Amino acid sequence: MTQMNIAKFFHRGDPRIRKVQKFVEKLQRVHAEVSPIETWIPDSNAVPTILVGEIHYLLHVKKDPYYNANIRAKTYDECTLERQSIYRTAQDYMERPLGLCAEPVVWENLTKNRFQCPECASTDIRLGGGSGSAWADIVCTCGTLLEVKTVNRNVMKMVQRNKMRGGNYKYFKAQRRNGTTHYMIIVPKEGGDVILKKIQYVNPRIDAKLLSFHKYAPEHASLKSNAVLRRESITLYKGENLLDYGEECKILAEKLLKLAFARYARTIQRFFKSI
Ligand SMILES: [Zn+2]
Repeated sequence: MTQMNIAKFFHRGDPRIRKVQKFVEKLQRVHAEVSPIETWIPDSNAVPTILVGEIHYLLHVKKDPYYNANIRAKTYDECTLERQSIYRTAQDYMERPLGLCAEPVVWENLTKNRFQCPECASTDIRLGGGSGSAWADIVCTCGTLLEVKTVNRNVMKMVQRNKMRGGNYKYFKAQRRNGTTHYMIIVPKEGGDVILKKIQYVNPRIDAKLLSFHKYAPEHASLKSNAVLRRESITLYKGENLLDYGEECKILAEKLLKLAFARYARTIQRFFKSI
């Protein structure tokens, strides 16, 4: 499976296929620890809280350099990777904040519709946050994790084939080793049935981005995943159109970014005055 995905970026028999294969196998063996998940109940300030947290993480916590890969590359030779400033990265990241801001809306709808955890039937669900929140957008007290995915019509076709882009590979594996059960909540951006599907397993995601890292910055590569979902799905509620909400989040994200950058600019000015 993995080898097939790698091979499509090369001519047949290219010796680099084997090299990339080994690289992916090595990344697959990287183990992560299961860190405790901080949970919280969203209030009316949930969206700014999330956005400020994300901006803070990008600008002040994450230490790795940022890169921009040519994600449209069809071959290994077309793969490129550029270093990118954190400002640019934060701007790009906040360009479409709906993926980050959907969780409070989904939580509210689930609570209103008396959602019960598919594993333990509890109605006590929280939002996940903090550093251990990989795969944990919404968390049940029993430890079951629910990953929220806002999807457009095209991605919905993937869901109909029981496939979906997933998050970080090593954290999924670590949680699985710990006995965690994972679900996805699929939320159509334009409104419609919001559904719940159990995640069967994940595969490493082999794409142009991963190959670009292999080529230019293998030490900074991280393995993402593709999730394979169970065929059965449960309809949770009829979701509203989220496009206006997404627009509101974007305006807020822009304001918060400006504030964060202004603080940065002052720090830099002070730095230059001091030398
Ligand atoms: Zn539960």
